[in-house]
Amino acid sequence: MEYEAVIGLETHVQLRTRSKMWCGCANAFGAEPNTRVCPVCLGLPGVLPVANEEALQLTVLAGFLLHSSIPRFAKFDRKNYFYPDSAKNYQITQFDRPSTQGGYVDFEFEGRIARVRVTRAHLEEDVGKSTHFDRHSGVDFNRAGVPLLEIVSEPDITSSDMAYEYLNALKAILIYGQVSDCDMEKGMVRCDVNVSVRPKGQTRLGAKIEIKNMNSFSGVRRALDYEIPRQIEAVKAGQTPRQETRRWDDVAGVTEPMRSKEDAHDYRYFPEPDLMPFEPDDAWLERVRARAVELPLERKQRFISQFQLPASDAEVFKNDVPLGDFFATAAQNARDPKGVANWVINNLRAQLSERSQGLSDLRFPPGHLRELVDLVESGKISSKIAQDVFLELYTTGVAPAAIVDQKGWAQVSDTGAIEKICDEVIAANSRSVEDFKGGKGAALNFLKGQVMKLSKGKANPALAGEILERKLKS
Ligand SMILES: [Zn+2]
Repeated sequence: MEYEAVIGLETHVQLRTRSKMWCGCANAFGAEPNTRVCPVCLGLPGVLPVANEEALQLTVLAGFLLHSSIPRFAKFDRKNYFYPDSAKNYQITQFDRPSTQGGYVDFEFEGRIARVRVTRAHLEEDVGKSTHFDRHSGVDFNRAGVPLLEIVSEPDITSSDMAYEYLNALKAILIYGQVSDCDMEKGMVRCDVNVSVRPKGQTRLGAKIEIKNMNSFSGVRRALDYEIPRQIEAVKAGQTPRQETRRWDDVAGVTEPMRSKEDAHDYRYFPEPDLMPFEPDDAWLERVRARAVELPLERKQRFISQFQLPASDAEVFKNDVPLGDFFATAAQNARDPKGVANWVINNLRAQLSERSQGLSDLRFPPGHLRELVDLVESGKISSKIAQDVFLELYTTGVAPAAIVDQKGWAQVSDTGAIEKICDEVIAANSRSVEDFKGGKGAALNFLKGQVMKLSKGKANPALAGEILERKLKS
C-alpha cells in the first residue's frame, strides 16, 4: 500500500516594528539580557497594555499580501499557561476572532505553480528566552512582548521539499512587504510542523504529530525527511501513531517524543479584559492596503513577460530587488532588454562586489547601460571595446557615446580601412595563409585575431572575417 504525508505549518514571524507590542520598549535584537524591559513586558501587577498601531497595520498588511479576508471585528485573548519565559503566565493572542482569515501562498514547485492555503494569520506576543547553563538557567525578557505574527497553513503540503519551498516563498513575501526582516540567524522566524501519514486516497487524517520550535527551513525539511518514513514504518508495523509533540534533534538528525499533546481547552482562553476589540474602518484599511506591494512571484512573471527574460535572469531580479529595479529602469524602451540584463547581472554585479560597493555608489544613471548596449547592437563599437567603455563608464560616469567619441573607440566598419589591414596581415603571415589554403579552417581565426589586434579591437569582426575570406579564396 502507498502512503502519503499531510503537512501543515504554523509559522511565527517577528514583526518589523520599532517598539514592542504593548509597551515602548525597543524591538531590537542583541542587547544585554533584560535591558529592554519595563513593568508591562515583565508582566508586573497593575500595568495596562496599549496595542502597537504599526503591529496592527503590519498584521493586516500581511493579510492583504496573503490574499486573506480582513474581518471588521477582531479581538485579543489570553492563552493561559505557566512557563518560566512567560512572566505573566499567559500570552496575549487572538483565538476565535483573528485579524485575518483565509488566503493562500502561490509558489514555484517542481515546474508548476503550487498553492498552499492559509487558514489564518493572527497577532500575538513573543515570550522571553531561556538559556540553560551547567548549574542553573537564565531568562532574558528582551524578547518578551515583541509582536509576533502566526501564520497557520491548511494541511495542503505533501512533502518535505514542498514545505521548504512554501516557507521560502512565505518569507520572501513578508520581506517584500517589509512586514518582517525574517532574519533566521536572529530567530525572527520559527516554525511548528504538523505531520501525519495516511494510505493514499484516504480522506481521513492520521494522528497528528507536532514538531515544535524549528528555527531553520532546512531543519524543517530534514525533520520531515526523518519523520515521514518513521510514521509510515509504524503504520505498516500495525501501530497507530499517537497524537504527540516531538522535538527535532538537529545533531542526531532524529525527532524524539516531548509530551503528549494537550488539547486547546487546556489553555483556558478568554477575552483579554485590558484591550478593546479591534474594529478597523474603511479609511484605516485603505491606508494599509496602499502599503501592499507586488508579490515576488508576480514580479518574476512580470520580468519574464515584459522584458522577455529567461526565468533564471528574472529569478535574480526577484531575489535582488534593488538590482531588479535598476535593470527595469535601464531596460525601459531598450531594443535588447536581454543584452541589458546580461550587463547588469554579469558585469555590473561583478564590479559592485569587487569594489564592495552598492547601487547607491554608482556614478551613472541606469539609462547609460542601455546606451552601451545600443552602441554594441548598432555596430558602433565591438563587444570587446564595450568592456573598456563599461569600465570607463563605471569609474567616470561619462555617457558611453561620449566615451567612445573622446577615446576614438568607434568600430571601423569602413571596408577600405579594413581591407588595408587585411592586406598587411596576409603579407605578414604567409605560413597561416598557406595553412588556410591547405584546408585548415582554424587558420582563418588566427588571421582574424591579427586584424583585430592591428586595429586595436576597433575593426568590425564580422566584416574583417568576410574580407579576409574573400581575399584568401581569390
Ligand atoms: Zn516593555
